[in-house]
Amino acid sequence: MTDYSKYSFWLETAGDDLTPRPQLARSTDFDVVILGAGYTGLWTAYYLLKNNPGLKVAVLEKEIVGFGASGRNGGWCSSKFPVTPAMLERRYGRDAARALMLAMNGAVDEVDRVCQEERIDAHFHKGGILTLARGEHHLPMLRSAFEAYSRLGLSQQYRLCSASEAQERVRVTNVCGALYASENASVHPGRLVRGLARAVERRGGVIYERTEVTDFKGEPSPRLLTPCGEVRARQAIVLAGESYLTRLAKLHRAVLPAYSLITLTEPLTATQWAEIGWQNRESLASCNYTVDYLTRTADGRILFGSRGAPYRFGSKISDEQDRHAETHTRIQQTLVEWFPTLRGVKFTHAWGGPVGMPRDWMPMTEFDRATRIATARGYTGQGVSTTNLTGRVLAELISGKRTELSQLPIAQRRSPDWEREPLRWLAVRYMQNAFLRIDEAGKQGKPKPKDAAWAEFLGRH
Ligand SMILES: Cc1cc2nc3c(=O)[nH]c(=O)nc-3n(C[C@H](O)[C@H](O)[C@H](O)COP(=O)(O)OP(=O)(O)OC[C@H]3O[C@@H](n4cnc5c(N)ncnc54)[C@H](O)[C@@H]3O)c2cc1C
Repeated sequence: MTDYSKYSFWLETAGDDLTPRPQLARSTDFDVVILGAGYTGLWTAYYLLKNNPGLKVAVLEKEIVGFGASGRNGGWCSSKFPVTPAMLERRYGRDAARALMLAMNGAVDEVDRVCQEERIDAHFHKGGILTLARGEHHLPMLRSAFEAYSRLGLSQQYRLCSASEAQERVRVTNVCGALYASENASVHPGRLVRGLARAVERRGGVIYERTEVTDFKGEPSPRLLTPCGEVRARQAIVLAGESYLTRLAKLHRAVLPAYSLITLTEPLTATQWAEIGWQNRESLASCNYTVDYLTRTADGRILFGSRGAPYRFGSKISDEQDRHAETHTRIQQTLVEWFPTLRGVKFTHAWGGPVGMPRDWMPMTEFDRATRIATARGYTGQGVSTTNLTGRVLAELISGKRTELSQLPIAQRRSPDWEREPLRWLAVRYMQNAFLRIDEAGKQGKPKPKDAAWAEFLGRH
């Protein structure tokens, strides 16, 4: 039997029995059948059941609840969206971009509200995000982000901080300034996903674990196919498998699995915390292209995450990619660079998982009334709160009720497919390499590499 607690510190400390629920035993019928028991599938089930308590909803999960990114992430429950506000404004106009940003703020508060209502102790803490300029070269990025938020009328939630203001909050080396964003929280991802599953079950939803969906069909008989039988849906099937959807032949190029890796320190002592500061438990980041995200956990550890594990040909996903030693070592060295007083600190956990990247960086929700197939995916590593929003949008689209939610730019849209191999491998590996080189040049105070503009254009979002 698989020991699921090994997949992350969050699953290990979720405070829930990880013994798998029963598998699907035979073919059966429900109103709505959902592939995937991560946040997307569970939020969708939760709101469907809340809006219509008599509905029959089943969730089919290949492993256990929270096996995917939902049980492994960095714990940022943030109003940050995978596409920058400036790009949203260019693509959809000011009003739609602003509406989406406000809906993301709402999603953070809604996660908190549901946790309270359903008594999910997910360690929700609204400490904001502090994005640090580690070097002068990062300052223009912070200023242009602040200007973009201001153009959307959101400046009251953001604050540009001087180097000393930033250092007052947290003592990190080489900080020249920061952008503070108030509408952001951190959570214990494992407690959230496992608690949400219990809430879905209390409302009558059925979850089958260790039940792999091998194919799906739309009208005239929408259904999910598994080796144990098929589950037919009277109203809709929902595909909520994020990066793992690439394993289904029909969705192989729908998203691209990019690995995000995390290491965790032992709990720090009161003296170590006194040296570092960080009393408000903000989520921390830098402006690096390779992405740094840090969380101060409720039990006083530092979680440090980053991208960088190489993309594998054919969008391969495997357990061994969760532990790419080179990337984990780089992250641990970076943590000590940020906090030199922690030299010699013990790292107790290291894990990782795939995030689903859509070709246009934009998450999507879609319900095709003709086929009765619904999906939400493509969060590019920013799905903890975004899935709450997409879950509500999907529930609305499926039930046919329309509010302002289903007018948001994420509703009823589809991202283009990724290129076929080997082009996909060549382009993604090139970008991963270019982003590492750009960050390294910045760190050494050197000009950006000659191809930086090209890499930035390819990775623009
Ligand atoms: C290391 C890491 C750090 C991250 N950090 C953050 C963060 O700090 N903040 C943030 O907002 N986002 C973060 N993310 C992203 C965020 O966790 C995801 O966007 C979010 O959890 C996606 O939820 P999901 O339900 O769509 O997908 P998942 O949680 O991946 O769930 C999909 C589920 O579907 C199941 N499944 C897949 N295929 C099948 C099948 N064929 N049959 C049955 N079941 C199937 C899988 O087993 C899985 O349980 C991070 C992700 C990772 C990997």
